Amino acid sequence: MKIQEADAKSLLAAQGLPVPPWAVARTASDARASAERFFASGADKVVIKAQVLVGGRGKAGGVKLASDAAEAEQVATAILGMDISGITVRKVLVAPAADIVREVYLACVLDRGARRVLFMGAAQGGVEIEALAAEDEEAITYIHAHPHLGLLDYQARLLSFELGLEAHLKEAVAIAKGLYATMIANDADLVEVNPLAIVRERGADGSSVELLQCLDAKVTLDDSALHRHPGLEELRDLDEEDPVDIEARQQGISFIRLEGDIGCMVNGAGLAMATMDLVKRAGGQPANFLDIGGGARADKVAAAMRLILADPSVRAILVNIFGGIARGDEVARGLVEARAQQSRSVPMVVRIVGTNAELAAEIMSASGGIELATSLDDAVERAVAASRREPAST
Ligand code: GDP
Ligand code: MN
Repeated sequence: MKIQEADAKSLLAAQGLPVPPWAVARTASDARASAERFFASGADKVVIKAQVLVGGRGKAGGVKLASDAAEAEQVATAILGMDISGITVRKVLVAPAADIVREVYLACVLDRGARRVLFMGAAQGGVEIEALAAEDEEAITYIHAHPHLGLLDYQARLLSFELGLEAHLKEAVAIAKGLYATMIANDADLVEVNPLAIVRERGADGSSVELLQCLDAKVTLDDSALHRHPGLEELRDLDEEDPVDIEARQQGISFIRLEGDIGCMVNGAGLAMATMDLVKRAGGQPANFLDIGGGARADKVAAAMRLILADPSVRAILVNIFGGIARGDEVARGLVEARAQQSRSVPMVVRIVGTNAELAAEIMSASGGIELATSLDDAVERAVAASRREPAST
């Protein structure tokens, strides 16, 4: 689950990381009011940033500075409603603008292959890490944290030196360890600070100091661990979630959209993966991964069908159900019902074995419009063939 910058910053701040104060506004006048508060407490500029779950907001014009409250309102008006990578901006973050001396990149991700948390750092921050990696692989330092002890002191120091932060060693070490703490405390997959900036702060007497601040934050949470953190579910931004994903979650269906054209409805994650492999082997392309879960009832089957058909590239549906706890006849009834409500006619091939399979076959042949397969191989072949037929005109 991706969360907005403002929420990611709260998680960093909760681990003691240096994050400048901020406010979130949904209207330009609210943005102005927040800007006024920051100006009143001494800021000479504010930064206004689109809150959308995509990167590159700066490049897209979604990050702007303002020197007074009126300008803050203007800038917020321009950013709210803006389209960034297909997403409409509905809220902005307002913060006192930092006086940036230098920007670096620091992040940690879960490296599944290595079964460790991987730190990535680059002395050149602000730009997207993918772009930097493509340009100059050497520019990025990679360090795996210890699997039990986390990021060790010497590793944090090494990383700080690689980022050119020797003049801020204590702060940099604390920040690197703080990223790790944020990762562990929230079961995150990714904690990225880009830019981590050396900023200049002026005291009342005119003297200035340089210190490190996390000016941007991106955190991705592990969906499968959300149940361990009841507070984090609230951070889900439904504004930006695909309605199909929302429905799948509500129905308790694991659904992942893929590139192909054969919609797959299967019970059990392992069987779903095997089914997709067989589709590929037979020369077809699965349109999705879908595990309908245990004991699939008719209404859940109908919901799964809606999820599959919501994808316009689906040209055939392959249903593969192993009836154990799930009863074949119940699934068959769901399929017949879903078929009747179907907005467009897509060929459907069904293989149901196990509990009440005979009854399932009776129900489906009585309804018509459903191809019954005798084996899994047969089902896969027919589904692939059906996906290649010209769609019947309706
Ligand atoms: P992103 O483009 O979506 O990653 O958004 P960022 O929050 O990283 O902002 C993009 C760029 O805007 C940063 O790399 C900075 O150069 C600049 N920026 C962001 N916040 C500030 C700020 O407080 N002061 C100044 N001067 N520049 C900022
Ligand atoms: Mn950024």
